[in-house]
Amino acid sequence: MDSELILSKVENVRKNVEINPFKDYKKRIEKLKLLYTNIKLMENEINEALYKDLNKSKEESYMTEIGLTLNEISYMIKHCKKFSKIKKVRTPLSQFPAKSYEMPCPYGMVLIISPWNYPFMLTIEPLVDAITAGNLAVIKPSELSPNVSNVVQKLIMKTFKENEVCTILGGKEECSLLLDQDFDYIFYTGSTRVGKIVMQKASEHFTPVTLELGGKSPCIVDETANIKLAAKRIVFGKFLNAGQTCVAPDYIYCSKNIKDELIHEIERQIVLQYSVTPLTNPSYPKLINEKQFNNMLKFLEKDKILFGGKYNKDSLKIEPTLLSSSFEDAVMQDEIFGPILPIVSFDNLDEAIKQINMYSKPLALYIFSNSKQNQNKVLNRCDFGGGCVNETIMHIANGNLGFGGIKQSGIGAYHGKVGFETFTHYKSIVDKSNLIDMPMRYQPIGKIKDFIIRMFLK
Ligand code: NAD
Repeated sequence: MDSELILSKVENVRKNVEINPFKDYKKRIEKLKLLYTNIKLMENEINEALYKDLNKSKEESYMTEIGLTLNEISYMIKHCKKFSKIKKVRTPLSQFPAKSYEMPCPYGMVLIISPWNYPFMLTIEPLVDAITAGNLAVIKPSELSPNVSNVVQKLIMKTFKENEVCTILGGKEECSLLLDQDFDYIFYTGSTRVGKIVMQKASEHFTPVTLELGGKSPCIVDETANIKLAAKRIVFGKFLNAGQTCVAPDYIYCSKNIKDELIHEIERQIVLQYSVTPLTNPSYPKLINEKQFNNMLKFLEKDKILFGGKYNKDSLKIEPTLLSSSFEDAVMQDEIFGPILPIVSFDNLDEAIKQINMYSKPLALYIFSNSKQNQNKVLNRCDFGGGCVNETIMHIANGNLGFGGIKQSGIGAYHGKVGFETFTHYKSIVDKSNLIDMPMRYQPIGKIKDFIIRMFLK
């Protein structure tokens, strides 16, 4: 997109910040309702675009993109009024007579940058949170999912005025230009590498950021786990969107004495969920592009493959694949982000925890275990963004939980109430009465005043 056009679009939104059409929470709700209606009206178009970009079936698209987004909108329509209210807090006796409160205010103009793997949901959900908090927005969807990016632009134009929310299409260059501008908040979802660039650029303007990044999310299975159910849920979480999910279990770390049984059950589940020929299964997604496809092929070493491993260059599909791995293998060095699942085993859980903590802090962690003691050990001793016990990925689908990473896997969080708070600046206000004016704090402060101050401040 032409840089002058980009700058004029951003300027157009910027000029509207002072008037801010979304100052009143009722206007926000109106827009959220319109957005909901338009998504429903455009459901087929969104599905088609997701199919073209990622070969997602309409069922998977509804469950993981459209449905989750509609759910977030419904939640925000219900809670917007309550969240937007002033929050009264106690005032210390030393400040009597006064009242104190926190006043939720939008930041102003926010920039939302999104990736290609859930291109609809990861663009619109942060937007929903930003609008609920009363912000105007500029959104930059990914260039790697062009069909969805075009539909997103159409949806935005149908729902918002150009000076309320605008879409900038393009890639690295366009994004860099945007990052040079002075936004009031930046919400970025994508790789850790680009997250660093975003944070550096944001620091030029002291712009607060939320960074939703990735990482190598472990999935621990101990000897007490219900193996059948674990296998079923791991296959669901790992091979959804052909493994291109930020919170997908990246690798399995299991107790040595259940490894064979677990592998057998995972193989069985792959066949049950994706058939014996996943490459020709129309509901099985593809890799986003040739680059990502070729990245995956590097990991398919024949002597490591336990199951799967076939692929089709024309359709960019790779079978759900299990590898027998060790921590030295190439596949264990970085986030995989594809349908390849390495399995590593441990002798005892304490060693496993030590090993996990040697990596960067992951976005998610999963523990399959029927031992409360083992569950607690892992939850307390490993650092990670969020996760599940005896389940995979479902923590992202609970609007009552914030979603985000920690350190290398992200900064900040969103979804539901946490999402509203992310896009809100709370002004802290002391509202003092003029009826009485306590004299203690004013100079000259003699012995009696000093005694009283010391009574209050201790
Ligand atoms: P990416 O970082 O390559 O791209 C994301 C966005 O940044 C795109 O809009 C792109 O145009 C822009 N961009 C790319 N390079 C840039 C540069 N040099 N300067 C400025 N902008 C640039 O990420 P991706 O490959 O699209 O997504 C994959 C990664 O995102 C994975 O690591 C995954 O784990 C992570 N992810 C995280 C979440 C989450 O919610 N935490 C969700 C999805 C994906």
